[in-house]
Amino acid sequence: MPIVILDRDTSEKIAAGEVVERPLSVVKELVENSIDAGSGSVSVDLEDGGSSVIRIVDDGCGMTRDELELAVCRFATSKIRSFDDLESLATLGFRGEALPSIGAVSTLEITSRLHDAEHGHRITLEGGVKKSVKEAAAEKGTFIEVRQLFFNTPARKKFQKSPSQETAQITHFLARMALAYSSVHFVLSANGRPVFNFPPAVSERERLMELWKLKDADDLKEVDYRKRSISIRGFFCNPCHTRGNRLEIITFVNGRMIKSPLLMQAVQEGYQPFVPDRKFPQALLFLEIPGSEIDVNVHPSKVEIRFASAGQIFREVRDVTAGTVRKFSTAVSAGGSAYSFPVAYQAGKPGYPDFDLRTGEVRESRQGELPGFSGYEEYVSRSADQLTSAGKSEMQGAIAGSGGSFFPLAQILNTYIVGDMNGELVVVDQHAAHERVTYERLVRRDEQSPSSLQGLLFSDVLELSDAESALLMEKLPLFTSYGVELEHFGGNSFRIRAIPAFMSERDAGELIREVLGDLLDGREREGADFGESVRRLMACHGSIQAGRRLTPEEMTALIQSLLKCDDPLHCPHGRPTMARFGKTELEKLFKRRI
Ligand code: ADP
Ligand code: MG
Repeated sequence: MPIVILDRDTSEKIAAGEVVERPLSVVKELVENSIDAGSGSVSVDLEDGGSSVIRIVDDGCGMTRDELELAVCRFATSKIRSFDDLESLATLGFRGEALPSIGAVSTLEITSRLHDAEHGHRITLEGGVKKSVKEAAAEKGTFIEVRQLFFNTPARKKFQKSPSQETAQITHFLARMALAYSSVHFVLSANGRPVFNFPPAVSERERLMELWKLKDADDLKEVDYRKRSISIRGFFCNPCHTRGNRLEIITFVNGRMIKSPLLMQAVQEGYQPFVPDRKFPQALLFLEIPGSEIDVNVHPSKVEIRFASAGQIFREVRDVTAGTVRKFSTAVSAGGSAYSFPVAYQAGKPGYPDFDLRTGEVRESRQGELPGFSGYEEYVSRSADQLTSAGKSEMQGAIAGSGGSFFPLAQILNTYIVGDMNGELVVVDQHAAHERVTYERLVRRDEQSPSSLQGLLFSDVLELSDAESALLMEKLPLFTSYGVELEHFGGNSFRIRAIPAFMSERDAGELIREVLGDLLDGREREGADFGESVRRLMACHGSIQAGRRLTPEEMTALIQSLLKCDDPLHCPHGRPTMARFGKTELEKLFKRRI
């Protein structure tokens, strides 16, 4: 084909694709514009998760007729004049792309009125084509209505999430904007029903306690740190409240909410000894860094930035975090407890007292208790003759060959089982092994009727965020199908009514939060593999963790169950469950053989 310059319609749609990925991106761009316009109040209204209608009303500075016509043109902005202005940027927007991009893939109507004007104006676009500009009655500020998003880009429309999932993500986004802009009144409604109303001038601390469902003010430590030109301000949550994902490590740089692996990692390292494996802390940080030290122009929707001195920022954030988080332990020892942090870190792990970080109270030891082992014998006998797979026959072939079995020799680091399997030295990762066993149980549950459930009469009430709650309502049947029965209490409260026999209540609560977090994070897509990812997470939560001491009988039972699995050599995530050293490997190790 010869080279041609694409027509305007095509190039606009292509350019829009980068900025407007989904309803959330529209809301993000429009809310940023309202904040840039100095609004004291921003309200967002969605229909069908924003796919049919998104309405945004603000009381910002508004636009004249001429400005309205310019605003919908590409690269039209009132916020910068030259590239150098990016260094001293004081606004969220600067690319001049949002309105034309949204206009290109929807029906867009903007009504706006300056504060001292007698009336306003309305501009209407359809698929990027200007339809009309008229005088119109209007309130002071700007009213934007986006209808039929992606009506002319069917491929994009096909890849959209469900309305409830999109509403959940928009809720998550707006609740965080409300933290950074606490003087702005934010209101969100969906399908005519209020989702939240954050009145202005509530302290950041109060908004945060509400968002993270904290009851004790001592669970938040405030930090205000300044060094040379950098300032780090914000809140760290007590490490006794952790999450199954990184969603609650919230970072703003110069007023812009950004996704920064660097900052997340720095916060995690700062919390390091106090947060268990696969758990994540909660923190809200506002960084102020000179504009000359960052590059904001690296991402079309401006959610990523680059730091000129990344190493320095990393160290400062990590050290500020570590210094603040340590103060929680002071509070504990001031409470008269003899335990210091390293013990607290082991809370809930075997062989150590279960230790409540906040009260300093020591609960009964969990040593020896092994959730997940009841019912294995039944499972083992039921499934033994149904299984056939390469992994299994390889293992069983080796065993059958010498008619031997497994003898546990030791448990190392409370994590690895070392044993003799037919003259082979094997080292088994106890968590990975148990995950495989639990996972295959769940797969079989799909084929058979759900087996043993345990009812919970007095379970804790699960308090979720608005976003999590909206999503859970939609996913209730799915959890039920895996034996986790939930009851909606109204609002964002749920109670766990029943769980599979192999799980503990605490694991079930964490499982629910983790699954919802993954969905909100966009890490898990909806569709055919969703059940699969729930099974994997359930296997993980329903399995003994690394760090639990096992008796020789428990080790033997676990390995026997593992060897009955379809694929005894890998955990459901694909990692190996065991390392084997046969005669040959051992001989090579000691140079008896080349
Ligand atoms: P950018 O925000 O990068 O400048 P946009 O396409 O988002 O680009 O907006 C273009 C211009 O329209 C802005 O620079 C601003 O002057 C004007 N504008 C957009 N939204 C509003 C609003 N809600 N209130 C007042 N002016 C607005
Ligand atoms: Mg903008």
